[in-house]
Amino acid sequence: MLYVREFRKPRLVVSACLNLKPVRYNGQDVRDEFVLKLLGYCQVIEVCPEVAIGLGVPRDKIIVYKKDSQYGLSQPSTGLELTDRMHQFAQSFIENLPEVDGFILKSKSPSCGVSNTKVYKDKEGKEFYSKGKGLFAMKVLEEFELLPVEDEGRLKNQELRHHFLVRVFAIADLRESLMSIKKVNELMLFHQRNKYMLMAHSQVKLREMGRLVASAKEENLPQVLTQYRELFLRAISRRPSKGQEVNTILHAFGHLSSKLNRGEREHFLKLVEDYKRGVLQRRTLMEFLKAYAYRFESQYLMEQTFLEPYPESLN
Ligand code: SF4
Repeated sequence: MLYVREFRKPRLVVSACLNLKPVRYNGQDVRDEFVLKLLGYCQVIEVCPEVAIGLGVPRDKIIVYKKDSQYGLSQPSTGLELTDRMHQFAQSFIENLPEVDGFILKSKSPSCGVSNTKVYKDKEGKEFYSKGKGLFAMKVLEEFELLPVEDEGRLKNQELRHHFLVRVFAIADLRESLMSIKKVNELMLFHQRNKYMLMAHSQVKLREMGRLVASAKEENLPQVLTQYRELFLRAISRRPSKGQEVNTILHAFGHLSSKLNRGEREHFLKLVEDYKRGVLQRRTLMEFLKAYAYRFESQYLMEQTFLEPYPESLN
């Protein structure tokens, strides 16, 4: 029987201009096809920090500057100093957010940029200092160190995109699951279907989480769930190396390999080598694993989030 994974909807905070709202300084929107496609799978919370602090559309450009090791925001054409206004807005926006699973912000922006924002040495924007981040993004990165925060520019990189998608769909699943888990065995089942995904990220954290789950009892379940959430977020925060991924794929394959004939085994191991050398896509390898899981009716493998961490159409 075909196993169809149901994905929880990630709750993402998104720069409003990336969701086609005409809020940019020049009144135009930004069309990023991947971001728009992804948002179709998500609950979206839009934000435009510059409009929120009272700058109109269109507006004169604002800039980030760095002075005495502090970052600030100003509008050179009017001489407006905007640092405090942006800090206050960012603080109150964050305080009023529901629990979210990640952020996609607009690259290069003096407010939203996660990367490639121009930073100047002076409020007038006369002397370039370096590339950096926008002021709103800085606050988000500081407050949500365990959540994925990316911009549409960085998400054009296939590996960064894959890691971002794995995280936001895993965190959405975690958020909704933790709300409904009332019994120890429900936590065990959640942990079990995420085992290989966690293993790929961190064997150390996986073992730590395994011990925590084993220590869970009905009376300490709420405390265990809080610790589990923190460990889960930490475990998946770092991008796995190819070696870690391959090791996990081989572990998963170990469930089935004794049922395959020698030719099939050697063929799969050759595909793993091809993946290591970068001449085969991860997805192809996963499809082989899934096909074997179906053939031998391995419910355990079919349910592993590692095999299909996010909807295939986002590949
Ligand atoms: S980058 Fe951020 S501040 Fe600028 S228009 Fe987009 S949402 Fe608004």
